[in-house]
Order: sequence, then structure tokens, then C-alpha cells
Amino acid sequence: MRRAMVAGNWKMHGTRASVRELIGALVQQQIPGSVDVAVFPPSLFIAEVLQAVAGSSLAVGGQSCAAQAEQGALTGEIASTQLADAGCKLVLVGHSERRLILGESDQLVAQKFAAARFAGLVPVLCVGETHEQREAGETMQVVARQLAEVVKISGIAALAEAIIAYEPVWAIGTGLTASPDQAQEVHMAIRRQLAEQDAGVAQVTRILYGGSVKAANAAELFGMPDIDGGLIGGASLNANEFGAICRAAGN
Ligand code: PEP
Repeated sequence: MRRAMVAGNWKMHGTRASVRELIGALVQQQIPGSVDVAVFPPSLFIAEVLQAVAGSSLAVGGQSCAAQAEQGALTGEIASTQLADAGCKLVLVGHSERRLILGESDQLVAQKFAAARFAGLVPVLCVGETHEQREAGETMQVVARQLAEVVKISGIAALAEAIIAYEPVWAIGTGLTASPDQAQEVHMAIRRQLAEQDAGVAQVTRILYGGSVKAANAAELFGMPDIDGGLIGGASLNANEFGAICRAAGN
């Protein structure tokens, strides 16, 4: 039985004042005990958020890490070992904004995944197709390729200790959500790909859906058999909305 999970990706949003307000409201939310919840603030605010959630069940993660796990001369980057040292438990790797805007390749994402594991962090591996790729009927190949690169470097067993987030690029921040059936189809294909190498891993690996999830559509998406929760962008900046999504995952 896989535990439900809801993760909030704050992206490059927030000021000291707004983050304080958001996290203050977030810790007041009723979160079902059956749901794991994590937030991914901009790294500037990680320490403050960690302090604010101390004693609660909320976990905190980084939005990215360097491909090299150890500290070193790499201006502007954050090592996975530094995130772990700060108190983070997870890190996003391969978010589509990093793949498409910052040019991160499948290989680089796979290295970051390995670096996260080296530091003892749970990598949340984001995969997903663009609108053009979906139109061209390439969704399954794209997602399979993104996943295969990680398996090639870290091995199939590593996926059991990670989280996968299927995030169709055309649904991120656009208000367009994949229908529950569209999302389920890809989640099932991901699980099948894992099962081809290890049925046990396929059973336990959590696969979240991301792409314009809101309180109004969360329950329907999370009700699908292979959707184990959500990675939430815009709606995670509103504590009441995010809390409602977490409660939908607990039903
Ligand atoms: C995301 O950026 O991971 C995301 C899913 O964003 P949104 O919920 O805003 O579509």
C-alpha cells in the first residue's frame, strides 16, 4: 500500500514577509495522518521554513541540486549534501522549467538524481511531455526515455526509494489539467516500465501527478489507481487551497 503524498513547489515565489505568512497558515492546516506533505521553498527561505515546521509532519525539500554531490567551486549552485545538512529531506530533479528553460538534459537530471541519493535525500523525479510531443503521439516515449536515463545511472532499485512526478508540460501553470484518464494512462505506463525490470519496485514507487492541480480537481485525479498524490505549483502558494488538496489526498 503506497502512502499518499502532496508536495508544494513554491518555485521562485515569495518574500520574507509572504513566506512567513504562508508557512504560518500552512502549519495551521488539518492534514490527514495518512498523507505525507512536503514543501519546496526557494533555497533562500529553506532555513526559515524548516524552523517554522519543526515539530510538525511537514517535510522540506530543495527545488534542485547540483550534479556533483559534494561542496565545491560551482558558483550559484547548491550541493545535495548541503541541502541535507540544512535539514532537507527531499529534492526536486528534472522539473520541466529546468529542463526546458535552463536546458537540463536527461543525462544531467539523472546525475542530479544520483547526487540526491548520495546525500540521503529522496529525489522527486519530474518527467513529462510538451504539448508538441503529445500532439505528435510521443508522450510515452518521452517519459520512458527520461525515466530510463535515471535507471541506467542509479539502477531500478533506486526508484523504490524515490518519487516520480508525472507533469505534462502543457498542464503546468496553464490552468489546463490532464483528465484523470489521461494522467492515469501515463502513470500506468510508468509503472509498467518499472515492472518490466522489477515488479516489487513498481508496486511501491509513488507516482504523483502535477499540472494545474487545485482543490476542485484533486480528488478526481487522486482517485485514479496509479496516482499517489500530487506535485502542486501555483495552488501551493495558498495555504487553504493547499490544505484542501492534502485533505483530498487523504480521502
Ligand atoms: C509545477 O510547477 O510543478 C506545477 C505542477 O505547477 P502548477 O500546479 O502551477 O501547474
